[in-house]
Amino acid sequence: MLCHVCYAEPDAMPDCPACRGSGRATSIPLCEEPWNEVVPGLFQGGHDVRSQSRTACVVADEFDLVVSMTTREGYGPAAGVEHQVARMADAGVDPGIAARVAELAERVEAAVAAGGRVLVRCSGGLNRSGLVVASALVRMGHRPDDAIALVRAARGPWALTNPAFVHHLRALA
Ligand SMILES: [Zn+2]
Repeated sequence: MLCHVCYAEPDAMPDCPACRGSGRATSIPLCEEPWNEVVPGLFQGGHDVRSQSRTACVVADEFDLVVSMTTREGYGPAAGVEHQVARMADAGVDPGIAARVAELAERVEAAVAAGGRVLVRCSGGLNRSGLVVASALVRMGHRPDDAIALVRAARGPWALTNPAFVHHLRALA
């Protein structure tokens, strides 16, 4: 995982106080919100948050489409809500994963363009969901770095700290 302050950017990394120049993350805190709206209609979230409520991350019928990169019994969505399950690891991006992420991004973009409310979620709501959301944002016309910045603005500085995901996103046209 990349440092959440300098993101291992060559200009900032040597003097970074958070990672002491290593560019690598040490610990990752949970987000406070179960999900956040990244751009109108497009939400990113997870199954684990810093909350007193055990049901904070349970999805009912708040969304028209839910894309889950991981699933957990009892976390919804409610019956009748379109639910796409696409499990993947918070690791690298091989050609097979790249193709699946592109498919998911296309579906997410289409649903948002049609006026739907869409949630993309993983465990912490930081990296796997961020990969799909940022890929959808690129399809919507955002430059990759702007898409990454939108995801971090919504979910906090620990979003998209998987260097393989960032590398993949920056290579998107
Ligand atoms: Zn750093």
